[in-house]
Amino acid sequence: MNEIYLDNNATTRVAPEVLDEMLPVLRDHYGNPSSMHSFGGGVGALLKKARERTAEALSCRPDEIVFTSCGTEGDNTAILSALRANPDKKHMVTTRVEHPAVLNLAKHLETRGVEVTYLGVDDAGRLDLDELRRSLRKDTAVVSVMYANNETGVVFPVPEIADMVRRRGILFHTDAVQAVGKIPISLADLPADFLVLSGHKLHAPKGVGALYVRRGTPFRPFLIGGHQERGRRAGTENTPGIVALGKAMELAAMGIVDENTRVRALRDRLEAGLLSSIPDSVRNGDPDNRLPNTTSIAFKYVEGEAILLLLDTFGICASSGSACTSGSLEPSHVLRAMGVPFTYAHGSIRFSLSRYTTDADVDAVLREMPGIIARLREMSPFSAATGDAGGKPACTR
Ligand SMILES: *Cc1c(COP(=O)(O)O)cnc(C)c1O
Repeated sequence: MNEIYLDNNATTRVAPEVLDEMLPVLRDHYGNPSSMHSFGGGVGALLKKARERTAEALSCRPDEIVFTSCGTEGDNTAILSALRANPDKKHMVTTRVEHPAVLNLAKHLETRGVEVTYLGVDDAGRLDLDELRRSLRKDTAVVSVMYANNETGVVFPVPEIADMVRRRGILFHTDAVQAVGKIPISLADLPADFLVLSGHKLHAPKGVGALYVRRGTPFRPFLIGGHQERGRRAGTENTPGIVALGKAMELAAMGIVDENTRVRALRDRLEAGLLSSIPDSVRNGDPDNRLPNTTSIAFKYVEGEAILLLLDTFGICASSGSACTSGSLEPSHVLRAMGVPFTYAHGSIRFSLSRYTTDADVDAVLREMPGIIARLREMSPFSAATGDAGGKPACTR
């Protein structure tokens, strides 16, 4: 299978170096790290090393790292812990553009008596820090703001936000799932209480993640049971996954320079090439504060799902910002929050690159996309050729 994989914000391939460290744990070191015998104890040493590597990559202490099963678990644990630690505070602040792991939890909490303020973004996907400041109240238990957006790659000024929030004695959580490994993050300079990352977004396997909990931050566990993770996350440790994550974190720290030079240059060439060769195409999101690997481009008058199907026939994997399935005409909540017009939002495609992306991958997209868009526009009842009917394009399925 020779896929051209440009959907790395959805998930990534497991790095060969990560697989090499993980396989012996699966095959041979199957002991339980809580066991008293030395066979289990040997596995405990592997966990310790993974925790040290993860802490090293984030400039925090090993005992501030709690291993989890995924990014979603980390986000849920952090937010629920903050609310439980402050039972008399019933207000939470987040943004309209969070991942569902935060957004749908916030919606659920609204049915449980929590009042939630959802901060909007401007047309470039940026937050208004004055609006954020005004939203903070005496009864605010937690503020949750993502580090980088998974659809547009827009990076929020999280160190500044964390400082503003914590000065007021409010707990601050950041979903850094898309940021870790792509931009430098140092918890020594970032006063967050909680930070979440996920293995499968950074070349470790699915089913493992980490939650950073600052020393001194009050904490209430989500999973209650055994004493694993110093009583902060019960359940026998996913030892192969954790060892894999430790190695992936080490590689991520080493790969930041490549990500911000080679990968960024590939992304910029892809973006500039598409925007210049395809009429009525625009970039979604602030170009100045953005992940180096992501570009989201809107192609007017066409439907994202149709573009993806045609890209797929060339072996090209990307993602559409539109949720046109299940009969809904609504484009993605992120593009809607940015006020991207319907005729553009429906035709938005996200390309997300990685350390494995090559010049040939970018060449293939630049070769095929103009023809794909032209073909779809010929078929579109809303295309420029037939005049803009002004309405929303219909979903084909
Ligand atoms: C993928 C993602 C998550 C969820 O992580 P899982 O490990 O898949 O649960 C959360 N937040 C962001 C920004 C993501 O991109």
